[in-house]
Amino acid sequence: MFQFLYSVLHFFDPILVPLCFIVAWGMTIAAILGIFSAIRDAIARSRQMHAIPCTNCRFFTNNHRLKCTIQPFTANTEEAIQCRDFQEKNNNAYSSIIDS
Ligand code: SF4
Repeated sequence: MFQFLYSVLHFFDPILVPLCFIVAWGMTIAAILGIFSAIRDAIARSRQMHAIPCTNCRFFTNNHRLKCTIQPFTANTEEAIQCRDFQEKNNNAYSSIIDS
């Protein structure tokens, strides 16, 4: 039985060797491309998360029960990137309007 398999494998050697070479390198290249793709996605996601302005906003409370007094459902989410109510923490002009 094994003798038969051995002879069959030797018969297909000219095809199997290049086929295994191509499959092995194909899998290696696919794995490397997958790693680069994952790194690129992580960088893009990180940039998007750093674009959320809430931590620098005057209305951000840093309290997990009520993260923002103006937009509590959008605070610290991607929807907050274009938030119309964003006011910088150190915006003295705005605080003088509120105080008066
Ligand atoms: S007002 Fe807008 S930017 Fe400011 S903390 Fe609330 S959601 Fe974030």
